[in-house]
Amino acid sequence: TNASSQAVPRPPPTPSPLRYSKFSQAKLRILVTGGAGFIGSHLVDRLMESGNNEVIVADNFFTGSKDNLRKWIGHPNFELIRHDVTETLLVEVDQIYHLACPASPIFYKYNPVKTIKTNVIGTLNMLGLAKRVGARILLTSTSEVYGDPLEHPQKEEYWGNVNPIGVRSCYDEGKRVAETLMFDYHRQHGLEIRIARIFNTYGPRMNIDDGRVVSNFIAQALRGEELTVQAPGTQTRSFCYVSDMVDGLIRLMEGENTGPINLGNPGEFTMLELAEAVKELIEPSAQLKITENTPDDPRMRKPDITKAKTLLGWEPKVSLREGLPRMAEDFRLRLNVPKK
Ligand code: NAD
Ligand code: UDP
Ligand code: UDP
Repeated sequence: TNASSQAVPRPPPTPSPLRYSKFSQAKLRILVTGGAGFIGSHLVDRLMESGNNEVIVADNFFTGSKDNLRKWIGHPNFELIRHDVTETLLVEVDQIYHLACPASPIFYKYNPVKTIKTNVIGTLNMLGLAKRVGARILLTSTSEVYGDPLEHPQKEEYWGNVNPIGVRSCYDEGKRVAETLMFDYHRQHGLEIRIARIFNTYGPRMNIDDGRVVSNFIAQALRGEELTVQAPGTQTRSFCYVSDMVDGLIRLMEGENTGPINLGNPGEFTMLELAEAVKELIEPSAQLKITENTPDDPRMRKPDITKAKTLLGWEPKVSLREGLPRMAEDFRLRLNVPKK
């Protein structure tokens, strides 16, 4: 028989090395897409500070900024590429943290078609890259995949309640397709994947005017403006401080579980309670103003983090009362508001 005419069985996928890079013996090469953004830049700090990594950031600077990475520019283990993930990217890396995507409602609704392209084509490209170089890839998905949830708190098994044609769908449904693509590349091509479902995260370096509730309230408090509580104000969110989030993302990447795994702080607050906390901790003279809400606003959200606790040994350490003043310090400096 002619061996070459027979179907050649596909070799099993080679596990991507965690301790040793394929490309340079000493350090892992890590790509962070969206690394110039809020969570991404804190992740880059941690990866660079470990001293064991080479970090490449690919970002189109839509909502991110070079400023967030200032301290690493020029460092021999760091590289920043202006790149849109909807275009092909050729780099050689061991791990990919795929964060690129606007996360604040006002930015993801600004150009919804682009948001979908970023989630779908962008994730497809990063998966094609991971496949070509044998890299492990982590997607930052979102609690928004649960939509306006009918189960509370949300477990990973819950399939969600998402409006497919609403104004938030470019983001929610985009992330849902991104998760599907991750699992199809995993099943079809043997890729090593990790999926984090991130719940509302806050901290220093958030865009001051990006419209999210914590950044709005803190900026308003410092500027002496009214805190805009969107009606009815009884809707809830659970807020995770960014250092806890970064810790969870790294544990997920380094661990053995594909996920999806919820990462978030289970402390749940109504928006009125959040406004009261900002008032108490940051500006006691602040006034609250009830304003109109946006369509499809989820009424409640709180992660069940049993999986993260048992599989990753992770849980948040920073409470809202500790985190808000730290973020306010950063905003004070950036807004040039003197301490009282
Ligand atoms: P961010 O807007 O600060 O960061 C996103 C980064 O991606 C920015 O630097 C932006 O310039 C970049 N980007 C956007 N589109 C791009 C594209 N097409 N090509 C290349 N770069 C692009 O937001 P963040 O809060 O840091 O969020 C990071 C990730 O975490 C996102 O994937 C987001 O969906 C996810 N997430 C965040 C939260 C949260 O509360 N912050 C909650 C759930 C999920
Ligand atoms: N891709 C990329 N970088 C790579 C390899 C692939 O950006 O190093 C992109 C490529 O442009 C393609 C996508 O990833 O559109 C999916 O690649 P894959 O090989 O899975 O699919 P195919 O190219 O066969 O459609
Ligand atoms: N929100 C608010 N005031 C603001 C901005 C937002 O009360 O100035 C509310 C909004 O209605 C929602 C919650 O805060 O119920 C969280 O909104 P955000 O845009 O921060 O995040 P997401 O809706 O994506 O969770």
